[in-house]
Amino acid sequence: NAKEVKGQVLVIGAGPGGYSAAFRCADLGLDTVLVERHPTLGGVCLNVGCIPSKALLHVAKVIDEAAHIEHAGVKFGKPEIDLPGVAAYKSGVVKKLTEGLSAMAKMRKVNVIQGVAKFVDEHTVVVEHTDNAGEQTKVTFDSCIIAAGSQSSKMGFIPHEDPRIWDSTNALEVKEVPKRLLVMGGGIIGLEMATVYQRLGSQIDVVVRGPQVMTGTDKDIVKVYTKANEKKFNFMFKTQTQAIIPKQEGIYVEFKGDNAPAEPQTYDAVLVAMGRTPNGLNLGLENTGVEVDDKGFISVDKQMRTKVPHIFAIGDIIGQPMLAHKAVHEGHVAAEVIAGHKVFFEPKQIPGIAYTFPEIATAGMSEIEAKEAGINYEVASFPWSASGRALASDVSETGMTKLIFDKDTHQLIGGALVGENAGELLGEISLALEMDCDAEDIGLTIHAHPTLHESVGMCAEIFHGSITDLP
Ligand code: FAD
Repeated sequence: NAKEVKGQVLVIGAGPGGYSAAFRCADLGLDTVLVERHPTLGGVCLNVGCIPSKALLHVAKVIDEAAHIEHAGVKFGKPEIDLPGVAAYKSGVVKKLTEGLSAMAKMRKVNVIQGVAKFVDEHTVVVEHTDNAGEQTKVTFDSCIIAAGSQSSKMGFIPHEDPRIWDSTNALEVKEVPKRLLVMGGGIIGLEMATVYQRLGSQIDVVVRGPQVMTGTDKDIVKVYTKANEKKFNFMFKTQTQAIIPKQEGIYVEFKGDNAPAEPQTYDAVLVAMGRTPNGLNLGLENTGVEVDDKGFISVDKQMRTKVPHIFAIGDIIGQPMLAHKAVHEGHVAAEVIAGHKVFFEPKQIPGIAYTFPEIATAGMSEIEAKEAGINYEVASFPWSASGRALASDVSETGMTKLIFDKDTHQLIGGALVGENAGELLGEISLALEMDCDAEDIGLTIHAHPTLHESVGMCAEIFHGSITDLP
């Protein structure tokens, strides 16, 4: 005797994709139901992803800057870290945002149901309530948007049940600062958490299967990052963990590969950051015609439609890049298509940022992609050692701006930055790519002086050959 609810649109999952889609549906006049298993809205991003990690990175940044200013004549003492205070700061930021989302849902009269949704057929899901165990609601819908996201990948050989083996959610709890921390994986999430814990006082090893961190990211950019961090982290490239054995005195880890230590190492905690797995295999999709692969990814077209025309999917669950802003835009497209608009998800670029120290930010094509696509391209790079602002801010050794132009048309096809605030500087490059700007557009734009974003204008001038005397 389940309760019954009917909506024109059902959205499953209240992450950035799901809440954006639900709000857009409601704004377009559609009667919308949003099902989320957790008590707060916001999904991974707001609760255990983008936002708490950035709050902790902010704390780490202040510690970092205080240490750095010493050679500019100011000395602070050793930081006194009140870990519960740090955790409370982070939780406060998350709370403000998730409460804001609840208010926004209420304002739009989105019917939020707390529970786990499972399809029983192509027009019905059953929700097992998580706020009231044993209670069920049957939701029928005309259209559905699946935005059920992803979770940290688990590996068979890793004893995940040991509390000292962390995923990113555990790391974000900041309950303790392990003396020795092993970070498995050189992707964005692992490196951001490594940045936080290094500043909080951990000694950190980062084990990376390949020859560089952030696989697929521009080599020149990654080189600057790695050089800036080689004294802070012990990077073990081309190396893998072979065995992870929890013992009372610590986690024993054996390694193999080019930079494997001869002896097993003991860690106080191990952060597993080796990718994310989509939640597509536990939604009852076998009761529908929706196509889902064996990893759990759902396939969609450019209107975010699955193989079942009235069921859509967006966000992490449809594939890479697993980023909040991609999910948001896809959510808007799905909602608008349901409302009858003829729109498509066809971005010219999806920006990607690692909020590490220094930050790494990329948009559009990488040099390798341009080469593979057979484009006659030219690279223009500006080292920040030639930037007055970077010098004044003491970040000149750890920054570089790199733009890639089509040599025939002069059009900008990609950009990458490493350095202080690279993520903020990327905005101009994203807009330029979306607007099909060429080197003339960028070069003729007056960039304020002295700024770090001047470096973007400089790259256009380098492309034109008007700057040739860089260090
Ligand atoms: P999610 O945010 O995963 O939300 C899916 C929601 O669906 C969840 O709330 C889940 O509880 C719910 N759900 C799942 N199954 C069901 C079900 N059956 N019934 C009901 N509810 C269900 N991205 C960025 O762009 N920038 C960053 O800085 C960034 N930092 C990150 C840091 C960390 C530590 C992590 C882990 C991720 C980070 N990401 C970042 C990635 C970002 O969080 C995701 O790309 C984004 O949250 C995906 O949004 P989504 O809407 O697809 O799914």
